[in-house]
Amino acid sequence: MPLSTCPRCKKIFSKVDTPVCAPCSPIEQEEYEKVRDVMQEIPGLKFPELAEVADVEVEFILRLVKEGRIQEGSPDKGSVCGRCGASAISRIKRLCESCLNQLNKELAAEQSQTRLAAKKEFVTKSESKGKKVSRGMNLTRES
Ligand SMILES: [Zn+2]
Ligand SMILES: [Zn+2]
Repeated sequence: MPLSTCPRCKKIFSKVDTPVCAPCSPIEQEEYEKVRDVMQEIPGLKFPELAEVADVEVEFILRLVKEGRIQEGSPDKGSVCGRCGASAISRIKRLCESCLNQLNKELAAEQSQTRLAAKKEFVTKSESKGKKVSRGMNLTRES
């Protein structure tokens, strides 16, 4: 097992799979979650601001970035917009804010078009029905 210096308490420890020593691990995890939460709540914070809001050391955030656990501007690694490649607002949606707005607009337009088409069809049907009725009435009147 390689020996390593814990970046938190500066003690020498046997590095297994955590970057910090065992006693520091729970604190590390807790602070990591805090940082992640803040990044999700307030996206686009600069690292010093993020450190202040999450109440952690800037060095810790820089370390998280170096380890690939967080990325500036996006809460999760690899969550980019499927349309333009900008950092996505959530991993599930995979869309950035502007694309999401655009998509919502497109959806709304599509829905109103469908509604319009349905309305048109209804009008055409009732119109032809009306013609038949009036023609029939005319025939009755002529004969
Ligand atoms: Zn430690
Ligand atoms: Zn986008």
